[in-house]
Amino acid sequence: EFQALVLDKSDDGKVASTIKTLSDADLPEGDVVVRVSHSTLNYKDGLVLNGLGGLVRTYPHVPGIDFAGTVEQSSHPDYKDGDAVVLTGWRVGEVHWGGYAQKARVKGDWLVKLPDGLSPKRAMAIGTAGFTAMLAVLALEKHGATTGGGPVLVTGATGGVGSVATAILGKLGYDVDAVTGKAESADYLKSLGATNIISRGELAEPVTKPLLKERWQGCVDAVGGQMLANVLPQMMYRGSVAAVGLAGGNKLETTVVPFLLRGVNLLGIDSVMCPKAEREEAWTRLTSDLPMDKLDAMIHDATLKDLPDLGTKILKGGMQGRVVVDVNA
Ligand code: NAP
Repeated sequence: EFQALVLDKSDDGKVASTIKTLSDADLPEGDVVVRVSHSTLNYKDGLVLNGLGGLVRTYPHVPGIDFAGTVEQSSHPDYKDGDAVVLTGWRVGEVHWGGYAQKARVKGDWLVKLPDGLSPKRAMAIGTAGFTAMLAVLALEKHGATTGGGPVLVTGATGGVGSVATAILGKLGYDVDAVTGKAESADYLKSLGATNIISRGELAEPVTKPLLKERWQGCVDAVGGQMLANVLPQMMYRGSVAAVGLAGGNKLETTVVPFLLRGVNLLGIDSVMCPKAEREEAWTRLTSDLPMDKLDAMIHDATLKDLPDLGTKILKGGMQGRVVVDVNA
């Protein structure tokens, strides 16, 4: 038997969660059973916990798009009992049962072995948000970003993606401009590695010109919407924007002029179906390029029972850094 946070949908369409005791027989199909130690909270978990976004197909449902733990049982050739593993994406926590439970059964193909020296707790402090921040930085590098090439912008900087992106870019030696709606968080962002703080308001008003003064060689954008539309005309010649998120909206109204006259690249980042080789590259780079003291400073500890409230808070943009859920606490 084990504990899980279970979502049920009532006849009137409302989604509510309860912590329940389940048995192994309740678990979905899969070739690896993982004894989960930690999970986390991402923006998408906030949507699932509130029954939004049409992400969950069937109830009852166990949310949690990420987890880390130890293999308990495996018929997959790559995994044996006792292996430390991490899972992000593959629609786990949406279509498949996820990590808000003390046990999970999944396809071994979805797992990644935890890199040496990375604890399950820190793996979940990283989670989908941090893993995606790393994918975004890798994409900028593959499109020519260099530390001498000019500042890099991070939007939604105090959030999960933004905090980890700021810390990685700072460690790599980039000048990091961090955009935030939380004026009181300037010291937090500077401690992570931001060089300059830009207030959200400065990038919130619609711009009228297709090109403005060149400011950034790169951008990790967790916000989308008007902010992304305002960033594109201010990218430097051949600069790249990694489009990661939509915390500020999913519409993009812009012109093609920055692409045609400045050779700007708009790079799509998807963490969910990302192929295994890139996953392993990203997890390896996270262990070398994300300073662990800065990661630890982002952590808010939580338990399964805290998740409904936190899930509502993250949708309002009210979180700073990363939540780590000890599912056994
Ligand atoms: P998060 O922790 O809530 O961070 C989002 C941050 O965006 C907030 O902390 C806030 O930062 C800023 N923000 C919120 N509402 C805003 C608004 N209306 N206008 C402008 N800025 C706003 O969420 P997260 O887990 O980091 O995820 C960030 C985004 O990336 C989400 O849209 C998520 O769905 C997406 N994502 C995509 C992938 C992928 O595979 N493509 C993976 C992970 C996440 P400040 O207060 O500092 O401005």
